[in-house]
Amino acid sequence: MALMDSPRLQSLLENRDSDRVRAALHRPNKRPEDLALMLSPGADSVIEEIAQEAKRISRERFGFTIGLFAPLYLSNICVGKCSYCGFRADLKIKRRTLTQDEIKAELDVVASYGIRDVLLVSGETPRNVSTEYMEQAIRSTLEVASSVSMEIAPVAMEDYRAMRRAGATGLTLYQETYDQDAYNKVHFFGPKGDFMYRLEALDRAGEAGLRKLTAGALFGLSHWRLEGLRLGLHAAYLQKRWWESQISIGLPRLKGTPENFDIPKPIDDRTLVHLLIVMRVFLPDVGISISTRETPEFRKNVLGLGVTQMSAGSKTEPGGYTEANVSGDQFSISDERLPKEVAEDLLSMGYDPVWKDWDRSFVSTV
Ligand code: SF4
Repeated sequence: MALMDSPRLQSLLENRDSDRVRAALHRPNKRPEDLALMLSPGADSVIEEIAQEAKRISRERFGFTIGLFAPLYLSNICVGKCSYCGFRADLKIKRRTLTQDEIKAELDVVASYGIRDVLLVSGETPRNVSTEYMEQAIRSTLEVASSVSMEIAPVAMEDYRAMRRAGATGLTLYQETYDQDAYNKVHFFGPKGDFMYRLEALDRAGEAGLRKLTAGALFGLSHWRLEGLRLGLHAAYLQKRWWESQISIGLPRLKGTPENFDIPKPIDDRTLVHLLIVMRVFLPDVGISISTRETPEFRKNVLGLGVTQMSAGSKTEPGGYTEANVSGDQFSISDERLPKEVAEDLLSMGYDPVWKDWDRSFVSTV
């Protein structure tokens, strides 16, 4: 983890020599230095070669499979005031936490889409979304789904362990930004202000025995090259330390933020593709998801470059699957296709949509 702040690696991010990038691209066992070089400006003229290698590795490791999952928002109540977020406490939106019956109703809709992999999502509201609440929600989810992951505020290892015992298999926890100064600027209020507690959450989840760990950064908050370097190193570290777990990463970028928030370092489509292909080449075995923040066209275009999973039919507000015109979403989505439409598009492009990639009967959760 100390590597994240290595001055040598950071200086390699400024490399302008394309030959050094080519050498890094073709080195069999990639080192952190190779990651930095592939993210440097010297890679600009090597992008097509990196993309070809990303394609080759994707075919070799994952074939044509794309896992589909659905997020289920449990609560939009939040004590945080993160500048970029539609749930932040000072915004006037209708707030609610789903009851267990409402969760079941939402799950029925998700299940009717055919999706069997569910991600339970919540704002930071420990009073409303307690460990006991999560345990019940996980059990309800497993009545219709085969696997359930969580994207919730960081908690203690014992709480993750209780959630694993209830049947949860994964934790998604994006650091948002690995740049601590940028982090402090946007997370100035509430428990999310604790950078290290958040950074170490995936380790606590690994220690608790969760078998799917997903890291990520919210691109747009800080310099993308450095962010990409740190995210890649974090994922490589997680792979080594929690070798029994599947490590994945997410590459969401800021879009559709609340009024009065200007994205500090917006990134364009080309940059996002650059990040995606470098991550695939540096981390051949990690899962990579692409967010519904992106348009259907963009998501389709990057499929072969390293993407292994995508959300489909997503609603980003509690109650969004069962009720029309619910207000209070966390961010606006750009891909509104139903899961069936996503699957049809995948099939027409030669991909194989995977609705279920795990079953609890594979292992004991006790
Ligand atoms: S990012 Fe998370 S903690 Fe921050 S306001 Fe949004 S839901 Fe709350």
